[in-house]
Amino acid sequence: MSTLVEIVPLGFEDQGLLTALAAEIARSYPLTCRVGAAERLPAESLDEKRGQYHATRILEQLAASRLDVFRLLGVTDVDIFTPILRYIFGEAMFPGRAALVSTYRLGMEPSPGNAPVDRSLFIGRVLKEAVHELGHTFGLSHCRDPSCAMAASLDVKHIDAKSTRLCYYCAFLLQDKLNP
Ligand SMILES: [Zn+2]
Ligand SMILES: [Zn+2]
Repeated sequence: MSTLVEIVPLGFEDQGLLTALAAEIARSYPLTCRVGAAERLPAESLDEKRGQYHATRILEQLAASRLDVFRLLGVTDVDIFTPILRYIFGEAMFPGRAALVSTYRLGMEPSPGNAPVDRSLFIGRVLKEAVHELGHTFGLSHCRDPSCAMAASLDVKHIDAKSTRLCYYCAFLLQDKLNP
C-alpha cells in the first residue's frame, strides 16, 4: 500500500505554505507527504450565481487522478461551498482518497471586523484544517474535544481553539483505521 499523501495546488502558488503543509502532514500522520504538480480547478465546479466553487466537484476530480497515491489534498484560495452550507473551510471524502482545503476565509479575524491576521496565525489555521480534512479521509468523525484537530469548525474561532494534533482518542482510532 502506498503511504504517500500528495498535495495538489489548485491554482495556488504560496510555496511557503505548501512546504509547511507537507511538513505538518508528515508530522501528524505516519505517512510521507510531498507537494505534487499543480492542477486547474475543474471549470464545472464554478457556481456563477453564488460566485463560489462546489467542493464536491473538486473532490471528484482529485479522486479520479493519480491513482498510485494513497491520499490527495487539494489546496485552493477560492471560496468553496457545499449546497447545504453558506461556505466551508474544507471538505473531504468520508472515507475516501481526496480532501480539500481553502485558504479563502482563513486570513481574517472572526466577523465582525474581518481584519487580516498575521501570517503565522493564517498558516496555523491552514495546517489545522488540512490535518482535519485528511482525518475524515481515513474515516475519523468530528471530535468533542475542542483542542483536537478533529473538532468541528464552523467559524475561525473554532479553528483558533484547536491544535494540529489529534487527541488521544482520535489518534487511537486512526491507528485502527490505518491498520485494519
Ligand atoms: Zn470536519
Ligand atoms: Zn479527538
